Amino acid sequence: MKIGSSIEELCNAHNNILKTELNFRYREIDFENLLTLKISEFAYKKVKTVVKSAFEALNHAVESYWLFFGDNIIQDIIIPYQHVSHAFVEVDGINILNLKKIIKESNLEILGWGHSHADFGVFFSTTDWRNQERVFNETSNYVIIRRKKENTVSKVIIKYSYGSTFNIHEDNFVQLTWQEPRGSIQHSRVNLEIIPSKNYLNFNFNSYGQEIQKYFSK
Ligand SMILES: [Zn+2]
Repeated sequence: MKIGSSIEELCNAHNNILKTELNFRYREIDFENLLTLKISEFAYKKVKTVVKSAFEALNHAVESYWLFFGDNIIQDIIIPYQHVSHAFVEVDGINILNLKKIIKESNLEILGWGHSHADFGVFFSTTDWRNQERVFNETSNYVIIRRKKENTVSKVIIKYSYGSTFNIHEDNFVQLTWQEPRGSIQHSRVNLEIIPSKNYLNFNFNSYGQEIQKYFSK
């Protein structure tokens, strides 16, 4: 099931209004900006809580996943309903579709996904790469990339999303997946940058962790 328009549909649309809208709606950045994924301290503390809680609640080999959402910074995470009976998590497109509606109302987007590797290494498995492409296909983040070559600047719209793995040692592996119109899907490793935020001061991470544990123990 597809949620967002594919980049092909978007670029082939014979609709000038849509094309005009694109220029208004999408921010314009240099490609290098996409190579640092910014996450609010609040969202990062939630990630750490989920990784720890899942590790304590589950068999160590079982992964758990969440979706990142935000604007140009990850503001929060959402844990979709998931079957944790398998060692390797399979991202479910229908869950993304359901969450998409809720997220749309908040003017935030699903920027990608993350998952825990318990106390193992953080590099992507074959299943993780499959999930990465699934999330990429089922989300719809676009940005206009500026390219400077000598004295000329060219612009191209690209589709992108992020995928990531974390473990209890606070290692991370973050991948940007992106595609130019009619280009192939590409991946680049990116850095994570934690942005200080104050909105978590009243948030109870302990009870959040306990809730998560119950959820994973089902
Ligand atoms: Zn994995």
